[in-house]
Amino acid sequence: MNEAKYHLECLECRHVIADSYTNTCPEGHDSLLRTVYKSKRIRKRSGQGMFNYIDWLPVEATVPVNTNPITYKSEELGKELGLENLYVSFSGYWPEKGVFMKTCTFKELEALPTLLRAHERAGEKILVVASAGNTSRAFAEFSAMTGMPVVTIVPHRYTHRMWTTTEDHESIFLIAVDGDYSDASAASKEIVNKPLQGFRGQRGGAPLMAGLIEEGGVRNVARRDGMGVVELEAAWCMKALPDYYVQAVGSGTGAIAAWEAFIRLIGDGRFGERMPKIVIAQNLPFAPMFSAWQDGRAELIAAKDLSNAEAAIKAMYANILSTRNPPYSIKGGVYEMLRSSQGTIYGITNDEAREAEKLFESEEGIDLDPAASVAVASLMHAVDEGFVEKKDRILLNITGGGYKRLKEECALYHVEARMELHSHAVGQLPVDELERELKEFVTGLYVG
Ligand SMILES: *Cc1c(COP(=O)(O)O)cnc(C)c1O
Ligand SMILES: [Zn+2]
Repeated sequence: MNEAKYHLECLECRHVIADSYTNTCPEGHDSLLRTVYKSKRIRKRSGQGMFNYIDWLPVEATVPVNTNPITYKSEELGKELGLENLYVSFSGYWPEKGVFMKTCTFKELEALPTLLRAHERAGEKILVVASAGNTSRAFAEFSAMTGMPVVTIVPHRYTHRMWTTTEDHESIFLIAVDGDYSDASAASKEIVNKPLQGFRGQRGGAPLMAGLIEEGGVRNVARRDGMGVVELEAAWCMKALPDYYVQAVGSGTGAIAAWEAFIRLIGDGRFGERMPKIVIAQNLPFAPMFSAWQDGRAELIAAKDLSNAEAAIKAMYANILSTRNPPYSIKGGVYEMLRSSQGTIYGITNDEAREAEKLFESEEGIDLDPAASVAVASLMHAVDEGFVEKKDRILLNITGGGYKRLKEECALYHVEARMELHSHAVGQLPVDELERELKEFVTGLYVG
């Protein structure tokens, strides 16, 4: 174990855990696991996209990609808001700035190391990923690119988000479900837990894949450390930590990742010693963590924070932010992050988000994902309230954008669903059909 580049640590019991795609404490604690890297001073390599920061990623190998977020100092928006030190981290497609994420969001930073970690640590198991669309699209793109298979579950109403920039979708098994993100998530848990027979046997001498494995969401360290590259790149560009970090959240995973990256950067010693204040935003009317935080609670209460969830989610502009059970109160989660960084949450209306989007697009010259517009609006709130001041160094995480720009250059290929699950089927999975379809899918992986 001494030779390993990293190990995992449970934040509750502090036990050291060797990583075998481990996403929960073997002792059963509900807290997050965190990676502890042997290397305490981050080196930046060159020419390897996000893997320039491989010292702090839980993978051994890399794949050749140019996926990387960029950071730049904003002149136009900064001036508009009266901020002298506004830095923008941009994840998306914006070739003029040197950023080429073809699925247009920072979910690429999660998908890539997760696929590699599964390949290295999960012994030929196929990842099962549920999402509201952006995560699944990122996984699909890299699955198509690398041939590493993925089973992904997306609500029917968001399957328009499922496209890649390559035509071949043989390695992608898309399941469309009724309902919203929570229904997709529930279905994925059920599918993973079924002892499916479809994987037995051999084909052409090659063993079939060994089964399915749950991707893990916020509990997956590869997702969090992958997104942490945003902060590493920003620290490298600014040669310092920001005073404030601003992001729109659904689950809060990205902001937890930022917090953890800041902890590591403080430990590095070269970027400053003060934890940035973490400012997050949710899109009203669906804003459960905003609701709990306003009440001063460390726990979500469904009757208060999630009342009318279905209608509220349908009314959101940035419905990618519609996580019903975010990691708010668990150890290492959002509440602890906000408290210990002296941060805050804003609730942003659709109108505010749209207005902020127009402003950003006209000042900075690139189109935004609606979620990123929520972040811009929350920065405007923070300025209005005096939570941030003129000279503060602010890192605004633009988590997605450049869709219009991408369409000027790339053809997009829609990913067809291989199965549809209707709401009455959740809880009574059509196991026979699923087995048959998966078997066909897996078999197909070895033909092409
Ligand atoms: C997923 C997503 C977010 C929210 O990220 P969380 O980690 O769930 O908080 C924000 N912006 C975009 C563009 C996203 O795709
Ligand atoms: Zn533990």
